[in-house]
Amino acid sequence: MNQNNKKLMEDFSLAVLKEREAISEVISYLSHIWKVKLYAEAGYSSLFTFLVEKYHYSKAAAYRRVQAAKLVQREPKVLIYLKEAKLNLTTIALIEPFATGEKLQALVESSLGKTKEEVEELLRELSHKVEIHKDKIRRLPIIKSSSAAELKCPELKQECFTEDVSQKEKKTSLEMSFSPSDTAVNPIQETRKVKIEFVADEKVAELIQRAKEVLRHKYPHGKLEDLVREAFELLLDKKDPERKIKKTLEKKSNDVKSETRYIPKAIQREVYQRDEGHCSYTSSEGKKCGEKNFLELDHIHPWSLGGNSTSENLRLLCRTHNQYRNQTL
Ligand SMILES: [Zn+2]
Repeated sequence: MNQNNKKLMEDFSLAVLKEREAISEVISYLSHIWKVKLYAEAGYSSLFTFLVEKYHYSKAAAYRRVQAAKLVQREPKVLIYLKEAKLNLTTIALIEPFATGEKLQALVESSLGKTKEEVEELLRELSHKVEIHKDKIRRLPIIKSSSAAELKCPELKQECFTEDVSQKEKKTSLEMSFSPSDTAVNPIQETRKVKIEFVADEKVAELIQRAKEVLRHKYPHGKLEDLVREAFELLLDKKDPERKIKKTLEKKSNDVKSETRYIPKAIQREVYQRDEGHCSYTSSEGKKCGEKNFLELDHIHPWSLGGNSTSENLRLLCRTHNQYRNQTL
């Protein structure tokens, strides 16, 4: 290799090194922007739209950077691995959804130096291990009455219905989603039951046993169905954002007699039409968010500070910007 070419190759190596450093730096900044939601202040509903709209990354490139920014929050060493080319944005994006809790460090470490295909194989092995103890929620047939089904099959064993539900059973893992009609009150579906199976450690069994004892007065038979329902109702009352919104709406509805926090449907429609179904947040630099999903009504002059529920005092905000606004009040 002549001297010129040798120099060119050295410069190229240097450029590659700088590129890796630059990517690592970008992810470091992004991680912080994501943590403190600076994208919201700048007028974007997510870090993803911030990258696509403001910096014109392709959707795939933006997605990989968002995943990397999230993983760096949980494992800062990822930045070093990125700089050292032990991980790249593609492998990071692949492992991010799985790299949580106890698996976090082990998964990151075992992905070092691996190609995309090798990491995919690693994740397949991991999911296979999980598969062995896959939880199941199996829908049992509707029992319309004590007549037809039982006459044919008096012992009412599940096997009697295998033929009827065989197709449905193929979808009976946790991914199975119930259509709204499944939960609707329907006299025929009232007896719809599901069979739930999962493997747990002894600690869970101890918790169930203790719950049985504590709730003995309420559920003398200690049926798991009753205990699980009670436990999840309590959990969701505390943690489910939808329930919180529902409760807030119910509270608003209750307040209607005494106060005007309740927003009549006609005003909601008026605001929606006026804001053209888009988030109306505009950053100090004039960037309008324009998000069309997860929209909420916001009191411009806060209701808690005396703002009323007129269309002039209301606007549409996406969830990100409504939260951002609440944080900055
Ligand atoms: Zn918005």
